[in-house]
Amino acid sequence: MIPTSSLRNSNWEWLADKALQKEALTREEARAVLEAQAPETLSIIHAAYRVRRAFHGNKVRIHVLQNAKSGACSEDCGFCSQSSKYQTPAAQYPLMEVETLVQGARRAKAAGAWKYCMVTATRGPSNRDLDVICEATRRIKAEGGVKVCASLGLLTPEKARRLAEAGVDRFNHNLETSPRLYPRIVSTHTYEDRVQTTRYAKEAGMEICSGGIIGMGEERDDVIDLCFALREVGATSVPVNFLDPRPGTPFAGRPLVEPCYALRVLSLFRFVHPDVDVRAAGGREVTFRSLQPLVLYVANSIFTNGYLTTPGQGENADHRMIKDMGLAPEMVGSEFQA
Ligand code: SF4
Repeated sequence: MIPTSSLRNSNWEWLADKALQKEALTREEARAVLEAQAPETLSIIHAAYRVRRAFHGNKVRIHVLQNAKSGACSEDCGFCSQSSKYQTPAAQYPLMEVETLVQGARRAKAAGAWKYCMVTATRGPSNRDLDVICEATRRIKAEGGVKVCASLGLLTPEKARRLAEAGVDRFNHNLETSPRLYPRIVSTHTYEDRVQTTRYAKEAGMEICSGGIIGMGEERDDVIDLCFALREVGATSVPVNFLDPRPGTPFAGRPLVEPCYALRVLSLFRFVHPDVDVRAAGGREVTFRSLQPLVLYVANSIFTNGYLTTPGQGENADHRMIKDMGLAPEMVGSEFQA
C-alpha cells in the first residue's frame, strides 16, 4: 500500500514502480490519480512515461479504422451517430465488397499502420457479413504487412471461431463504461452481453481489444470500474476514447472532457495496463487540443485518419507529431521486445 501522503506530494513514481512490477493498483491509488489537481498532471505523466518506455520503447502502434458498414444500426448506444434510433448526419451504406476492404488495408499500410480494423455498425454480424470479412481477412493476411482487427458487434462461439480461423488477430468489443452506468448508455443489449462476446473471442483464439468512452456522465468510480474490468477480460489492447458529442445523439450537448483530466485518465489506464496497448483513441484531437502530443508519452498507440464518423488530423500531422516527440511508428515484424 502506497501512503496517500506520497500521492499528495507530487510523488507519483511509486505508481510507476508498481506498474513496472505489474502489480495491481488499489482503488485508492487509482482515485488519487483521477482526483489530482491539474498542476500534478505533468508529474503523473512522467511516472506513466517510465512505464510506457519500459514496455513499449519509443514505438507507436498506428491503427487505421475502416468503416466497413455504416449507419442504420438497430442498437441505441447514446454516444453513437450510427444508431437508427437517432436523426444524425452519419453516412449510411451496406457492407463494402471484399476488394474495397483489401484496398483499404493497402492504404492503411501506406499510412504506416500496424493494424487495420474493419468495423461494422451492427448488433452482430450476419453469416453473409462474416463471409465477406473472413475472405477480406484471408486476402489481407496473404499480402502481409499489417495485422487485422474486426469489430462487428456481438458474437456467438461459432462466429468467433470463423473469424479466428480466417486469421483475424484481434477482435474489438468495448465495454464502454462501468456496469453501473451501462444501462443509462445502452438499452438494447447488456453489459454482460459485451463481456460474453469478449470471452467468445478469446476462447476462439483472438486477442481482445476492449476499451471505453470517457465523458458520458460517469463518476470517478465508473472510470476505475471500467479500467479494472478491462484487466479481468484480458484485453491486450485498450482504446481509451473521449466523447466527441455527435449532433442528433442523446449526448450531443455534453461538454468535452477537460484535457489535463483526460491525461490523468490515460495515465491511470497505463498504470493498470502497463504492458498492453493503451490507445489514445476517438476524440483525441478535440479533447487534448494543445496538449495532444503529450498523449504519446503515456499511450503507445493511436488511430490515424479518423474515427468512423469523424475526421482526425490526418496521417501527415500524426507522423510529424510522432517524430517531433522522438518516437517512431512500429512495423509488423519488428515489434518492440520489453
Ligand atoms: S452497436 Fe455500435 S454501431 Fe450500433 S449503435 Fe452501438 S456503437 Fe453504434
